[in-house]
Amino acid sequence: MPQGLVSAFLNDLNSNYDWGVFEVDEGSFERVVQDIKPDYVVITNFFRDQLDRYGEIEKAFQDIFESLEPLDTTLILNADDPLVSNFQKMRKRSVYYGVGENQFSNQDQIVVETNFCPSCNSRLNYTYFNYGQLGKYHCMKCGFKNPPYQYQITSIEYRDPGYNFEFQAGERLNKVSFQYEGIYNAYNCCAAMTAALEMGMNPNLVMDRIGSFEYFLGRMENFDINGKNVKVALVKNPIGLGEVLKTLSLEENAKNLLMILNDNAADSTDVSWIWDAEVEAIKNVKNLKSINFSGKRPYDMALRFKYTGISTENFKVEENMDLALERVLNEEVKTVYILPTYTAVFQVRELLNARIKGKGKFMSHFRESLKNLKLP
Ligand SMILES: [Zn+2]
Repeated sequence: MPQGLVSAFLNDLNSNYDWGVFEVDEGSFERVVQDIKPDYVVITNFFRDQLDRYGEIEKAFQDIFESLEPLDTTLILNADDPLVSNFQKMRKRSVYYGVGENQFSNQDQIVVETNFCPSCNSRLNYTYFNYGQLGKYHCMKCGFKNPPYQYQITSIEYRDPGYNFEFQAGERLNKVSFQYEGIYNAYNCCAAMTAALEMGMNPNLVMDRIGSFEYFLGRMENFDINGKNVKVALVKNPIGLGEVLKTLSLEENAKNLLMILNDNAADSTDVSWIWDAEVEAIKNVKNLKSINFSGKRPYDMALRFKYTGISTENFKVEENMDLALERVLNEEVKTVYILPTYTAVFQVRELLNARIKGKGKFMSHFRESLKNLKLP
C-alpha cells in the first residue's frame, strides 16, 4: 500500500537511492506505479486472495494491464502462469522466467485458478503442473503456450531444510542452495535472481545472497524454543495454504501443527476461502502428533480439516492463542508448525518472542543484514 512505501522510505532516509524494490499488491498497484514509475515490473502469479477486498483475478489482471499501459517499463514475467504470460500481448520489452519439470511436478492439480486459455478461452492442456495453474501448458486451438525462458530453475532436490537446484541464465549454469521448502519458494528465488541479473548485479553476489537468505515476518520463519524447531508460515489464500501443507510431508520428524484463523479486515472477513484450499494435503503428512486450532475462527478451520476425512481424535481447539501455543510447545515433537493468517502472524510472533531471550532479535538481525549488504 502507498502508506507502506512511505514508511519504507522513512525508515531508511537517504538523500538519493540507486534503486529500490517494492512489493505492491494488486489493490494498490495502479496508485503506486503512477508515482514510482518503475523501470522493471516483476509479475509473479495470480491467485485468488481476499476476494472481499480485491475481487476476482480477472479484475486484478485488467487493473494491472491498464496501469502498465502508459508506463515505459520492462516486464519480468513468470512464463509458467498463463495469466501472467498473457501480458506478452502488451508488446512491452519482456523477460521470462520459470521452473522446469522436477520431481515435485505432477500430472494432476486439484486446485487451480484457471483451466482456460486467456487468449481464446478454450481449455488449456497441461504436460505437468508445478503448483496451482503454474506449469507447462498449451492451447490446442490457438497455440498459446509458455514463452521460452531466459532464466530457469532446474534439477530441484530436497535437502532438509530447503532445496538445492540449478539456475540457468543463458549459457551460465549455477548451483544454488535455498534453505526453505515449497515450490513457490523456487519460483520466488527465480523471480528475484532474474530481476537482479537483469538490473546488472554481480551474478556471484546474487547466488551468494540467495544461499544465505533468511525469511522474517512469518514466511516460514524459524524459531528455536525449548530445543524445538518452530516454523511459522503465513497462510492467506487457498493456493498458499495447500502448498504450505504439502511442504509438511517432506519432513519425517515427529511434528504437530497449530492453525490460527482470524477474520479481521486484513485477513478477509469472509473465511469461506479455506474451503477452496487443498487441505487434503494433510493426509500425506507423516508423524503428525496433533492438529491444534486457534484464533478468532478456530472451529471453522477444524471443520475444514474434519472434511478431509482424517481422524479428529488428535484435534484440539483452543481459542486463547497463548494457551494453544503453550500446548504445542510442550508436546513431545521435534518440529512445531504454526500456520497463521495475516493478523495472527503479528500476534503469534509476539507470543513466541516473549518466550525467547532477546526480544525483537529477528527485526534487528534483518536491519543488520541490510546494513552489511554491499552492492557492486
Ligand atoms: Zn487459445
